[in-house]
Amino acid sequence: MTTARIVVVEDDASVAELVTLYLRNAGFIVEHAPSGARARALFDEVKPALVVLDLGLPDANGIDLLKELRARADTPVIALTARAEDAERVAGLDAGMDDYLTKPFNPRELVSRVKAILRRTSGMPGTGRVLEIGNVRVDPQRHEVRVADTVVSLRAKEFELLEAFCRQPGIVLTRDKLLEDVWGFAYPGETRTVDVHVKQLRDKLVGADAKIETVWGVGYKLVPPG
Ligand code: CA
Repeated sequence: MTTARIVVVEDDASVAELVTLYLRNAGFIVEHAPSGARARALFDEVKPALVVLDLGLPDANGIDLLKELRARADTPVIALTARAEDAERVAGLDAGMDDYLTKPFNPRELVSRVKAILRRTSGMPGTGRVLEIGNVRVDPQRHEVRVADTVVSLRAKEFELLEAFCRQPGIVLTRDKLLEDVWGFAYPGETRTVDVHVKQLRDKLVGADAKIETVWGVGYKLVPPG
């Protein structure tokens, strides 16, 4: 495995220095962007494996920057937030952040979260057999989904969510279980994120004969055809 590049977007010099130091010691190549403008340039230049993004930047709205990044690539993002505000966290999860830490945080904790996400998203080859439920075909190795032989373009989280459903067809999966399996962390009470992504997934699976059904008060299940 080549050394992963990480872009750290953080205007607070002392936090940036600390994070950079710990990530470098863990073996990552780190590029620092002290502003939103510099971050945009670095995303294109570095093509990072992961982004650590401070949501409170002087020249940019962190959530907007996150959405912008998401629109371009599926690069995982760990957000740093100064406030433990629900609204910002929920907005961040909806915009596609993979994890977050509230300041002040332990840099060791950040390093272990970074490693966990990279393990999850690097898609260990050979682990995923093709899943077929009705006319829905999920190929984890090629990261490809087809509905009735037509390729469907999904974002990383939508793909993982569909994969989780296809691994357990007919079984009710609770929102908490899906949060943990797909997002890799349990944020009790932030299950609305699951609802948002399920809706997006349903919208994209046009023509699928396997349906993601809502089980009221519990969660969701994938119902095979017939
Ligand atoms: Ca800041």
